[in-house]
Amino acid sequence: MKAGQSTRSEGDIAAWRERAEQLFPGGVNSPVRAYRAVGGEPPIMVRGRGPYVWDADGKRYIDYVGAFGPLPLGHAHPAVVEAVRTAVEAGGPFGATSPAEVRLAELIRERMPSIERLRFVNSGTEAAMSALRVARAATGRDLVIKFEGGYHGHADSLLVEAGSGVATLSIPGSAGVAAPVAAQTLVATYNDLTSVASLLDMHEGQVAAVIVEPVAANMGVVMPGPGFLSGLRQLTRDAGALLIFDEVITGFRVGPGGAQERFGVRPDLSVLGKIIGGGLPVGAYGGRADLLDLVAPAGPVYQAGTLSGHPAVMAAGEATLLQLTPDVYSRMENRAERLEEGLRRAGASVARIGTLLTVFFRDRMPSNFREAKESDTEAFARFFHHMRRAGVLLPPSQFEAWFVSAAHDDDVIDATLDAASS
Ligand code: PMP
Repeated sequence: MKAGQSTRSEGDIAAWRERAEQLFPGGVNSPVRAYRAVGGEPPIMVRGRGPYVWDADGKRYIDYVGAFGPLPLGHAHPAVVEAVRTAVEAGGPFGATSPAEVRLAELIRERMPSIERLRFVNSGTEAAMSALRVARAATGRDLVIKFEGGYHGHADSLLVEAGSGVATLSIPGSAGVAAPVAAQTLVATYNDLTSVASLLDMHEGQVAAVIVEPVAANMGVVMPGPGFLSGLRQLTRDAGALLIFDEVITGFRVGPGGAQERFGVRPDLSVLGKIIGGGLPVGAYGGRADLLDLVAPAGPVYQAGTLSGHPAVMAAGEATLLQLTPDVYSRMENRAERLEEGLRRAGASVARIGTLLTVFFRDRMPSNFREAKESDTEAFARFFHHMRRAGVLLPPSQFEAWFVSAAHDDDVIDATLDAASS
């Protein structure tokens, strides 16, 4: 087949895979998609609707990958589709501010009041990278503390002991990161305040920020223990460092105001992505007004973006957040709870908060990355393939979260549980 030519039916997965392998490293545009952790051939997807996706051979799956987080309403929700269509038809982007940016930012601020001001960018990676730049400028300090197994995108300094694809591929960091850059990042243990306190002591007056996923979701879902997040708040305040919550996954997912509302801890800066773009490319960083006012052109920290605040992305995000009423949150959380209970009855260890969950192949729930890594990843791979054959698509790694959407109704949950116990 010639490049650019497409089949009418979009069929023949093998042919698409072969073409992709010629073009993209490992055949994919993001590593976890290659199925290295579970083995087998990765899918080629052509369509999604509600809780389902269809591959290029027309096979339908119940989808728990959920595009790794940005689709709380499921695929192709009519309100989101309509909003994007209207925005695209109106032209743009304009290289100028448009009302959609203002409306979405106001919605975010209303639901997450720690965000007094924000800046839209195009990915979670950019958002985390920019938040660190602001933290360094604000404090005049260089070092940053992150947690082992925490993932904050692929900015150089954050690719140290990271989760997500880095964990899936079992690499300690990334090649190509200059040693002096990696040396700016200190690594603590999730749920271990002592490990943070001793790094802050050891590097007194040098730590700009602690960045944390308030609920870790890139080593599988690992819950913050009682007092962990408030302890971080106290330690950072005492050390003159900023507290940055990376809510790229948890934001508008674990509840209307994200993890910061659910756990009642107010960070100085927050990093957002995924849901706020309704499935289109997005990121944002925000927080205390005095910190955001350091960003150009208000202040000396440079950060910019040709496509930042793209009207179609903003429209998708706004439509998504408007659909996410308290009612919808409680309905989808109930469904996720039913899924959790059913899986537990079948003997699984399930970590869940809201519509975010992981089935751990391990007796006890992990509290940090080291424990998460003790999971039986081969048993996970067997379960993954069993579910795939039964028409249920799970994230292809023990260390990625499952996403339940508002479109996963009781029948879909029942079908999932039937597949799990078949
Ligand atoms: N932070 C967290 C917590 C994430 O889960 C991710 C991506 N899954 C990122 C940052 C990076 O976001 P992006 O892939 O949009 O760059």
